Amino acid sequence: MNSQVPIDAKSDKRRKLRLLFLLTLGVWSFLAAFSAWSGYSQLEEHLYTVARERGQSLFDLMEITREWNARHGGVYAPVSKTNPPNEFLKVPRRDLATGSMKLTMVNPAYMTRQISEVAKERGGLSFHITSLNPIRPANAPDPWEAKALQAFETGTPALLEIDRTGPAPMFRFMAPLRVGEPCMLCHAKQGYKVGDIRGGIGVIMPAASTLASFSDQVSRMLLVHAVAYIAVSGLLALLFFKTQAHIQALSDAKHAQEALVQKRTQELTAANAALGRSNAELEQFAYAVSHDLQEPLRMVASYVQLLGRRYQGKLDADADAFIGFAADGAKRMQRMITDLLDYSRVQSKSDPFQPVALSEALDLALGNLDLIIQETEAKLSLPVGGMPTILGDKSQLGRLFQNLIGNAIKYRDTGRPPEITIAVTWKKPFWALSIQDNGIGIEPQHFERIFRVFQRLHGRDKYEGSGIGLAICKKIVERHGGRIWVESQPGQGACFCFTLPAIPEAERSD
Ligand code: ADP
Repeated sequence: MNSQVPIDAKSDKRRKLRLLFLLTLGVWSFLAAFSAWSGYSQLEEHLYTVARERGQSLFDLMEITREWNARHGGVYAPVSKTNPPNEFLKVPRRDLATGSMKLTMVNPAYMTRQISEVAKERGGLSFHITSLNPIRPANAPDPWEAKALQAFETGTPALLEIDRTGPAPMFRFMAPLRVGEPCMLCHAKQGYKVGDIRGGIGVIMPAASTLASFSDQVSRMLLVHAVAYIAVSGLLALLFFKTQAHIQALSDAKHAQEALVQKRTQELTAANAALGRSNAELEQFAYAVSHDLQEPLRMVASYVQLLGRRYQGKLDADADAFIGFAADGAKRMQRMITDLLDYSRVQSKSDPFQPVALSEALDLALGNLDLIIQETEAKLSLPVGGMPTILGDKSQLGRLFQNLIGNAIKYRDTGRPPEITIAVTWKKPFWALSIQDNGIGIEPQHFERIFRVFQRLHGRDKYEGSGIGLAICKKIVERHGGRIWVESQPGQGACFCFTLPAIPEAERSD
């Protein structure tokens, strides 16, 4: 079996399929990862947006409260433990007394600090007012706040981060605090103008529950992605294995079919060879038999003739007739054996092929038929453009023309002299020749039969012959690689056509 090529082709197909699978899996993995990353980014963006909005709202509320306070030029509240006089507030009438009640001024900064403390007591939330240039040292910024304050100077509207350094995670939001008209009361002496960034208020908010919900959402999103990824990858793998199995089955079927075709071809070749051998043996046998029969038959014929000569008229009339029949039978048998020998010699005693000008082969035939042509006044028209040269056996080709033209004359219509037209046409890769006569014609049901050995359509009393001529023509044409057939209608002449292969372009000498 031819195993190398199919195995290579099979593994090549497998390799390509595996490559396609890996490529698809790669693309799918990339898409799944991209989708997960994009989902995560959106959730994170949402988390920051919500935290920023919360921070901004609280910041706005604080700013509004501070503005309310500043518009009043600060408000007075009773002095208490949680509201001692603000030592950093250097304004006239900071402390007042009404009756026995001592009051002290609470300005926006002091109020911010106090609100932050209240918020811290309530749990979690706190505010921190800070500045790069604080009046109260405790309001100095920590490193993150300092970074935020510097960023505000360059136009950043607000800053947010998650601080995980403490025991619980916190959102830190900070936005700039701008100097308003009412603020100038305290801050004009620091050189600020209305609209300047004076500092910022940091809002610190608990982030644990928001982050927990964020983690939940991320986990759910990742879970959905993981399930989808595994499911689609599984389907892809299934598809891959199914396709591989299908390809395998197809390839197995193809190879089984190829093996079968190969086996049948081998069987056919062997049968052809056997047939060829048996044909050759048969021909050899026919040749040997007809050759070996000649001698005893000649003896029979000679002695029958001798009998005839010696005893003619000496015996009775029946004996004379019987001796005549025997002599005639022996003569016919001799003719048949000679014909059979001729027939088998087409194959066994042939010349090797060489370039033959068909016009020369035709001349040979016409030379042998010269007498009969003259006797019957047959008119022959030869091909106008001459005749080609082919590879063949000149004497056999001469015999072919002789048999066909001879028949065209023999089977002439008694009412008219024979007219025979020989034509040649080119039907790639063959030369097609035809010999058309105006004789008695043949009925279509005999077209096949007349090419067989000893098959005749007429009695010997009408047309002399043994029925071997066309069988020899068929054998000669087929030996040259061509085909012979007849076209005819009774009473309308017959046209014997045959093909002969042209000399291949490469082998031509002209
Ligand atoms: P034979 O001529 O010896 O009988 P052939 O093999 O040459 O043998 O021809 C076989 C038969 O084919 C002939 O007996 C004849 O009936 C028929 N035949 C051959 N050539 C022609 C022809 N040109 N026109 C009509 N019949 C033909």
